[in-house]
Amino acid sequence: MFVRAIMGHGVIPFSLPPCQMNRTGDGHKMGVWAGGEIELTTHTKMIHDARVGRVDTPHLPVNAKGERFMCEGPMQGYLNNYVREYIHEAGGDAKAGNLYTIVDAKWQDQIAEWKAIDPEIDASNCKWFYEGNTIEEACAAMAADTESGAYELDAAAVQATVDCYNELCAKGSDDDFGKNPTFMRAIDTPPFIVVPHEFGMGLSAIIGGLLINADNQVLKADEHTPIDGLFAVGNVSGCFYGGVDYPMDVLGLSIGRAITGGYLAGKHVAAL
Ligand SMILES: Cc1cc2nc3c(=O)[nH]c(=O)nc-3n(C[C@H](O)[C@H](O)[C@H](O)COP(=O)(O)OP(=O)(O)OC[C@H]3O[C@@H](n4cnc5c(N)ncnc54)[C@H](O)[C@@H]3O)c2cc1C
Repeated sequence: MFVRAIMGHGVIPFSLPPCQMNRTGDGHKMGVWAGGEIELTTHTKMIHDARVGRVDTPHLPVNAKGERFMCEGPMQGYLNNYVREYIHEAGGDAKAGNLYTIVDAKWQDQIAEWKAIDPEIDASNCKWFYEGNTIEEACAAMAADTESGAYELDAAAVQATVDCYNELCAKGSDDDFGKNPTFMRAIDTPPFIVVPHEFGMGLSAIIGGLLINADNQVLKADEHTPIDGLFAVGNVSGCFYGGVDYPMDVLGLSIGRAITGGYLAGKHVAAL
């Protein structure tokens, strides 16, 4: 029943290996066997950028072919949706899911300016990046770093993408993807910088769970009244994350939620 419920909603991500082994969903299954119900949506995926190159800003990311592919905004939670398709198209080759953010010398000032507009904008995790006086040099520096992965990116394709992007910036209108003009800034001032993102590490978890109420009592399927004496906290409980991917900008979210759920369940039991 559990498997059918999940697959029926088409949320099993393909082409990414599981990061956790031998996780058989016992808690979820026991909840369902006791009369509970798994939330129908959203079964938030946990697929992280592995290279600690996280740049959750409206700069320009390109795909592994050097092409622009999205309307950029704070986007960490959306990137994996594109990535999975690229890996799938490439027959499971995880490298096809690599993404690269392209910025120029002005990027940190831009982040400071944009953060005032949208506090979700964040690049505090960006620890891996490669610089050059041209885009070609920056790509070459990245490819030369065999220790970090020797990421190969077609510099000519990236240059063509940047030229096109710069034209749209000058025009003040993103005719290709409809990006907010506030975040359209030409990439024209050296040094040019490439930030690699690698999603090939796989799928950490799908965090959907049992329907519960505010006291963490498991709710009966269909009628949604509490099942006496049955509580679910942490990852076995549902209705929390609500997005297409796990938000990385709320530190300690999973652990904090698990502890808080336990506290609420305990408080309820203590008052009985
Ligand atoms: C590598 C890694 C890094 C993480 N980093 C962060 C982070 O930085 N911040 C953050 O907030 N969260 C992080 N998390 C997530 C966080 O650790 C988990 O979300 C949290 O621990 C989940 O708690 P839980 O109580 O729901 O489940 P668990 O901690 O998984 O507890 C479930 C328990 O049930 C037991 N169990 C399983 N099956 C049975 C059975 N049949 N019978 C009896 N017992 C059973 C298991 O042994 C386990 O003790 C990370 C997780 C991992 C793996």
